[in-house]
Amino acid sequence: MCSQSSEQQSDNLVLPGERLGVIEEFIPDAGTYVKDGVIRSGVVGRSLHDSLNKRVSVVPLIHGAMLPKVESVILGQVSSVQTQNAIVRIFKIGKKQLSGVFTGILHISDVQPRYVESMFNVCKPADIIRAKVISEKNKTYHLFTKDKNLGVVYALCSQCGYSLESKRQSLYCPRCGRIEKRKTALDYGKDIT
Ligand SMILES: [Zn+2]
Repeated sequence: MCSQSSEQQSDNLVLPGERLGVIEEFIPDAGTYVKDGVIRSGVVGRSLHDSLNKRVSVVPLIHGAMLPKVESVILGQVSSVQTQNAIVRIFKIGKKQLSGVFTGILHISDVQPRYVESMFNVCKPADIIRAKVISEKNKTYHLFTKDKNLGVVYALCSQCGYSLESKRQSLYCPRCGRIEKRKTALDYGKDIT
């Protein structure tokens, strides 16, 4: 990041759409946009409130396209699971670590070509999952795992917390012997970076 004078103050990490102030207080500068008099961030970055010049800008943390997009293959951690869908915290696109946190949703109809009875047989909270973004309607990233290379890539035993190993069609805990179901990616348990 570039050097800052004492009048400039680097604030928090901001995400696109985040409120930075109002036009009565600040002049919107690089990396921002104004809607209904409210200045918002247009990028993922650090907001900079320059109180001397009354300007607010956002310095992108990483240049280029760092937002998940349709067709992006993402890596995320499952944060919650319900019968019909799972919520995933996206932290990587391809091999790039993201600077913000994005939320994706995996619906039961997008898991695999075959019928799935319950999302509880697909993934569990804390699992690491690889998925593709198929839509970003209403700022929600809809995920898809209907591919051999997509699905859970790392999971822990829900009984003892040990890393589960892939065994035929299921996952197996070498410590306690528990067998669990997941929709795994072909390279489950291998390099997940
Ligand atoms: Zn176990």
